[in-house]
Amino acid sequence: MISRPQASEAKKIQDQVMLDVLDERDRQDKKWGEQNHDPFTYLTILLEEMGELAKCALHHRFGGPEKFNLREEAVQTAAVAMAIVECLDRKKWKWETPDSSNGKAQG
Ligand SMILES: [Mg+2]
Repeated sequence: MISRPQASEAKKIQDQVMLDVLDERDRQDKKWGEQNHDPFTYLTILLEEMGELAKCALHHRFGGPEKFNLREEAVQTAAVAMAIVECLDRKKWKWETPDSSNGKAQG
């Protein structure tokens, strides 16, 4: 279907990215088990990963010890985004009620 050399190379890169993201998802599942966070909680987890990715980008641009971890953090960020989609598809998550939270925000 796609015969251009550039497209073939692009597909190889895409395939490797998917393998790396799937490997990261396996690592996350082994570490944390099935996660069924509500969307707000999962967004904070995704933003934490994006923060790590942003730090690597800054170090890559301006120098710093994290400059070599840019791709790894991008894969972790993509894997968390994938985990959110999986969670939504499982339909097991629910909103916490105020009484089921830690209560610290209630004064
Ligand atoms: Mg990370």
